[in-house]
Amino acid sequence: MNSAMDYIVAVVIVAVLVLGGLGAALVGGTRRGAAQRRAEAERRRAVTTAPPAEEEVRAPGGEVTGQPAAPEIERPESRAGRLVRLRQRLAGSQSGLGRGLLALLSRDKLDEDAWESIEDTLLTADIGVAPTQELVDKLRTRMRVEGSGQEVRSILREELLALVDPAMDRTLRTSGPDGAAGVVLVVGVNGAGKTTSVGKIARMLVADDTSVVLGAADTFRAAATEQLQTWGERVGVEVVTGPEGSDPASVAFEAVRAGMERGSDVVLVDTAGRLQNKQGLMDELGKVKRVIERQRPLSEVLLVLDATTGQNGLVQARVFSEVVEVTGIVLTKLDGSAKGGIVVAVQRELGVPVKLVGLGEGADDLAPFDPEAFVDAVLGG
Ligand code: GDP
Repeated sequence: MNSAMDYIVAVVIVAVLVLGGLGAALVGGTRRGAAQRRAEAERRRAVTTAPPAEEEVRAPGGEVTGQPAAPEIERPESRAGRLVRLRQRLAGSQSGLGRGLLALLSRDKLDEDAWESIEDTLLTADIGVAPTQELVDKLRTRMRVEGSGQEVRSILREELLALVDPAMDRTLRTSGPDGAAGVVLVVGVNGAGKTTSVGKIARMLVADDTSVVLGAADTFRAAATEQLQTWGERVGVEVVTGPEGSDPASVAFEAVRAGMERGSDVVLVDTAGRLQNKQGLMDELGKVKRVIERQRPLSEVLLVLDATTGQNGLVQARVFSEVVEVTGIVLTKLDGSAKGGIVVAVQRELGVPVKLVGLGEGADDLAPFDPEAFVDAVLGG
C-alpha cells in the first residue's frame, strides 16, 4: 500500500516538473520570439531611418581589417531582361481579346450581328463606350474598302495602336528641371498595389544605376512602412520612415531632404490611400505636395490603378485627378485581368499616359508601358 502511494506521489511530482518545465520553455520561447522581433525591428529602423556611419573594424592590435559585413544586396533584373519576360506574360493575359476580334472580323459575312459582337467584345475588355464606337466606325469603313483576308490583322493592329496612342510621352520623369534630385509622388487607393509598385520602381531605377531614396509617407499603416523597408533593404536603398500615425507630410519632407543631402537622383514618396472622402484626401495629399514643393518641384505624380477594378478604378482615377495633378498612370495586375482595354479607357478619362504596367507579384514584374508591344500581345504576338 505504502509503496503504491509512494509510486503515485513520485509520478505526480515528475508530471508537475515536466509540465512546469515545458510551460517555462514555452513562455521563455514566446518572450524570446517577441524580443527577437523587437531587435529585428530596431535593426531595420536603424538601417532605414539613419544609415549608420561606416565604422572601421579594428583587430586587437588596432589594425584596420575592413568594413563590417554589409547585408547582401540583390541586383534587380535589367530593363531588357524584364521586357522579354513580361511581354510573354502580357500576351498570356490579353491575347483572348485579339483572337476574339480577329475571328469576328475574318467572318465571310460581316453583318450587323458580327459588328454587334465586335462591339460587345470591346466593351467587355473595358475599352469604354466612346473609344469602342470610334474603333468600330473606323473598322467598318476600312473593312469595306480594304478588308480582304490578309489585311484584317494589320488593319486591326493599326487601329488598336491608334487608340492606345503611341504619340503620348511615356518617359518617367525622375530628374528635376535643374538636373538635381527629382521627386516622384505615388498615389492611389489602398490595395491597388501602390507600395509594391514603389518598391518595384525603385528596383527598376537601381537596375538603371539611378540612385534612389524612398519616403514611406503612408504612416497610417505600419505594415506599409515595413513593406517598403523590406523593398529598400533588398536593393540597398535608404527608406525614410516615421512612427505609425505620424504626419505623412513630415516623412515626405524628410525623405526629400535626405535625397538632397545624399545627392540622390530621385526621391520616391509612397502615400496613404485612404479614400475616406474627397476633402480628407485633398487635405492630406495637398499638404504632402506643398511640403515637398517647399524644397523641390514634383517631377512626376503617378497614380496607381488596379486593372482588375474596371469602372470602379475609373471613378478612383477621377477623384485623385481632381485632388492632385496626375502626370502618369501605373496600371497594376494586368497579369490577372484580360481586360486590357482599361489602358485606353483610363488614358481617355485622365488625358495622361499609362507609363508603367504591373504584370505579377514578383519583385521585377513591372515594365515600362510600350503601346506596340501591348497591341502585339493583344493580337497574340
Ligand atoms: P497598396 O495597399 O496599394 O500599397 O497595395 P500593395 O502594394 O500592398 O499590394 C496589394 C497586393 O497586390 C499585394 O498582394 C501585391 O503583391 C499585389 N500586386 C501588386 N501589383 C501587382 C501586379 O502587378 N500583379 C499582381 N498579380 N499582383 C500585384
